[in-house]
Amino acid sequence: MDIVLNYRLSDCEKKTESGLACQVLEDSKLPEGGITLSPFARKPKLLYGRTMFAHRELQYGGYCQECCRQHALPVQPAMEAATSLFAQLQDNSLLPPFATEALFGEARGKMFGVMLTQNTTGEHQIIKAFSGQLNGEWLIPGWVPPLFDVNIFNGINTPEEKRVKVLSKQINNTYCKDEQLALKIERRARSRTLMKNIHRLYLLHNFRGEQRPMASFFHAKKGMPTGAGDCCAPKLIHYALQRELIPIGMAEFYFGRENKSKTKQHGHFYSSCDSGCAPILGFMLCGLEELRADASRPKQVIDSPIH
Ligand SMILES: [Zn+2]
Ligand SMILES: [Zn+2]
Repeated sequence: MDIVLNYRLSDCEKKTESGLACQVLEDSKLPEGGITLSPFARKPKLLYGRTMFAHRELQYGGYCQECCRQHALPVQPAMEAATSLFAQLQDNSLLPPFATEALFGEARGKMFGVMLTQNTTGEHQIIKAFSGQLNGEWLIPGWVPPLFDVNIFNGINTPEEKRVKVLSKQINNTYCKDEQLALKIERRARSRTLMKNIHRLYLLHNFRGEQRPMASFFHAKKGMPTGAGDCCAPKLIHYALQRELIPIGMAEFYFGRENKSKTKQHGHFYSSCDSGCAPILGFMLCGLEELRADASRPKQVIDSPIH
């Protein structure tokens, strides 16, 4: 299916409620808050705005302890792909209708990301990701997978989750305080072990061919923030590394009902997060600058010596 770009970068700048200067991505035809046909409504229903907002300081990267500096990907090369993905999500042409609908319901919205890459033959390739799970699924065709093997994840997670649910039921059903306490201690210990075992599945790679467990980038006692490694940025970089794709740029935006803490709004671009991504992206992007310089250098023709 052809991708129709309904959006263009406009030159105008405007102040948002937060007071930050924004570059506004405007739809050339539709008014803000455009009419979108809801698959569940007979009449056209006003669902959400079609305007995108991008802050000037968007950054996708982190500090690299090896090089003692920041490694980051620029946003601009991926802007067109991002606005195109946004339009496809708006038009319900990408996800099952119920999945798009759910992003505006109780489950609320989600971060989506795109990356412009170059393959070994020099062709551009766009890859896309959703943060965490979408519609309860880790794997959706056309989207990059998580950093771990989903079968191994399920093998660890499913039986333990069941066990924790049974424990919760037992806690609620018992009136004996001592028994309750013992069950609670067991539940906490099991949840902790489960988290540790799940975190072990996250192995990070970089463009120098190095690898490190994700846990080593976080405070040993405080542990990892929830969802670390499941954001779009690490998923996209990880996939690019596996497929020998050279990242050129990336962009992440929020789609759906605003999050509970009201920090993310529909149609707004956001930088990679400080809690989960900043500590790991510097490592993951290490070696990319050198690789890109190599890829853009004209291939030397070496004459074979004549004996
Ligand atoms: Zn993140
Ligand atoms: Zn580095």
